[in-house]
Amino acid sequence: MNLIGNRSVDGGNTGNNGSAGSNDVYDVAILGGGIGGSMLAALCARHGVRVLLAEAQMHPRMAIGESTIPQTAALYRVIGARYDVPEIDYLGKFQSVRQHVSLNCGVKRGFSFVYHRPGEEPKPKECTALPTLTPPVGPDIHFYRQDIDQYMFQTAIKYGADGRMLLKMEGIERGGPGWILTSSKGEQFQAKYLVDAGGMNSPLSRKFGLREEPCRMRTDTRSAYAHMIGVTPYDKVGPPRSEHGLLYPMHETTLHHIFDGGWMWVIPFDNHPDSLNPVCSVGFTLDRDKFPDTGRPAAEEFAALLERFPGIAKQFRQARLVRDWVKVGARLQWSSRQVIGYRYALLPHAAGFIDPLFSTGLAMTITFVGSIAGRLIEAARADDFSTKRFYYLEGWLQRTLDHFDRLVYCSYVSWADFDLWNAWFRVWALGNILGALGPITLYLRYQQDRNPALLAEVEKPPYRGLAGIDLEEYAQLFEQAGAHVDAFREGRASAKQASEQIFRLLADFPLSPKQVHIADPAYRSLNDWTLPKMIRIWTWGRFFAPEKVRRLYFQIKTFTYPTYVLRDVWAELAKAGRTSWALIRDIASAFNLEWKHRRYDPIAEARPVPMQPEELYKELDVPYRAGVKKEESEPIVDKARETVVPS
Ligand SMILES: Cc1cc2nc3c(=O)[nH]c(=O)nc-3n(C[C@H](O)[C@H](O)[C@H](O)COP(=O)(O)OP(=O)(O)OC[C@H]3O[C@@H](n4cnc5c(N)ncnc54)[C@H](O)[C@@H]3O)c2cc1C
Repeated sequence: MNLIGNRSVDGGNTGNNGSAGSNDVYDVAILGGGIGGSMLAALCARHGVRVLLAEAQMHPRMAIGESTIPQTAALYRVIGARYDVPEIDYLGKFQSVRQHVSLNCGVKRGFSFVYHRPGEEPKPKECTALPTLTPPVGPDIHFYRQDIDQYMFQTAIKYGADGRMLLKMEGIERGGPGWILTSSKGEQFQAKYLVDAGGMNSPLSRKFGLREEPCRMRTDTRSAYAHMIGVTPYDKVGPPRSEHGLLYPMHETTLHHIFDGGWMWVIPFDNHPDSLNPVCSVGFTLDRDKFPDTGRPAAEEFAALLERFPGIAKQFRQARLVRDWVKVGARLQWSSRQVIGYRYALLPHAAGFIDPLFSTGLAMTITFVGSIAGRLIEAARADDFSTKRFYYLEGWLQRTLDHFDRLVYCSYVSWADFDLWNAWFRVWALGNILGALGPITLYLRYQQDRNPALLAEVEKPPYRGLAGIDLEEYAQLFEQAGAHVDAFREGRASAKQASEQIFRLLADFPLSPKQVHIADPAYRSLNDWTLPKMIRIWTWGRFFAPEKVRRLYFQIKTFTYPTYVLRDVWAELAKAGRTSWALIRDIASAFNLEWKHRRYDPIAEARPVPMQPEELYKELDVPYRAGVKKEESEPIVDKARETVVPS
């Protein structure tokens, strides 16, 4: 039979979970088949939900959002295991992406920041870095998004979603079982629930006027980005390692060139010997006050930045564009007054965006997707899509966006002075470490105990908080440190005073592993996570850390981590052995059994999704509204239409 996706050309359905044809009713229609929409479709379809996944463009297509962070990567593992979708698990570390997904992605062994002043070479002592994790829990990845998004789209179809490309939904009306959707070609579809995964161009925001005008975020920046080849590794042209002292080569990290009023990213995909991709992602983001848009083309602006910062220019002498600049001259930020409504939800990138700084978009997306998927699966089973099932996510997302806005805004302020940045950088780094520790702990404990209930804990505080924001002590530190940055901005404190105050807060913070040297300004490259260091941190966490840290993050037995290390080493050796053997065999023999690949096995039935007890969700489902105390904040629901009314 001739097939398109999981449908036959004559409209028959072959999806293993019984997806609907276009005349039938879908439980969920997802508008947007990027990484977020496709992951959600895969999770839901895997558990029997009838999903329509509509993508306006054709995969592979260019997408931005290329750098993961340890918390994103760890969440891919937890969510992949929780929903029994290993394809999402594979996205959780460089080795498994290289082995299972694409050789076009780069490795990310850290975040490096080089501070620049106009007309000057950077000072080696003004470079800072945070290493990402090492095997078996890292390193992170530079996603070549066109490959990743296509892979996830196909995964969704594999599990039974009705995935269709070149299907742009233009008509969105309430009706039928919930929604009647009309494509640009006039095809009609019906669905009970609608998820807007359309990213920046969010169709539901436009329909219901959900975007806040003006956007509520403090960050106010603009951006331009492109793909290039011939970008010289900064390790060749920047300050030598003997002087800057960062632990990892900068070309193996996401490199941030920072300066007063903006920053530039360098995300290489070509930075390991197995890479098949010569491309490097490059972009800049500028404070609109300090660098107002004069309407010049992005290429000219880029050239002007290189002229202004000779230390950056060296890296781009041989660089040539392989994909033209995309310029967002208007404000880069957007926000929504509502993300959950009657029978609809907006994924994070449709609901709001701050800035690419610190690469938090994918972390928000996977956390949201991991939470809403379970709710949709239960709603579809009960045929009850009432708003209260989903309302928790309204608060979770709005609060997370507000947090990242503050984080990014303070960073731009801190770039006026290196010492202040060196202090604020650590506030971010600490949140990053604490945030990642949560899902890593859960995943390792799951490996050790094989208790699926542990995977549902990812929705509990503090684990559900990105960048550590649900850990009370850290939230407090963040607030206080932010107040010192404000004091500097308002001229109430010098940069030196503000940074000293922040270092004092960091020194007094009781929950940080001492081995990270978070409060020592001389340690500009924070701790790496190689095995000897991990053993020291584990020993601290297991036996010497405060009780809260031991309970939350270090209930991992002595042999769990080393076993995981050995398993990963074995996987790499087995792969090397298999490919070498295949070569030798092919020289000598025509016969082989490679066609008997596991991929042709029928898909096994999914394990049930572990969920938190009902009671706990009730407790968590208290929405967050800026400036309103948690206990005073109630969902505002118009009972007649069960519409969540915007505040
Ligand atoms: C400049 C920039 C840099 C970024 N860098 C990072 C980073 O380094 N790390 C990180 O974690 N995050 C980053 N992000 C955020 C990241 O891009 C997003 O979090 C991520 O792409 C969200 O994925 P998504 O699938 O929800 O949306 P998208 O990737 O935007 O996909 C949306 C899809 O919806 C489709 N679509 C739109 N309208 C319709 C319609 N009506 N019908 C059908 N289909 C439709 C589009 O064709 C598109 O394929 C960055 C964002 C920007 C803007």
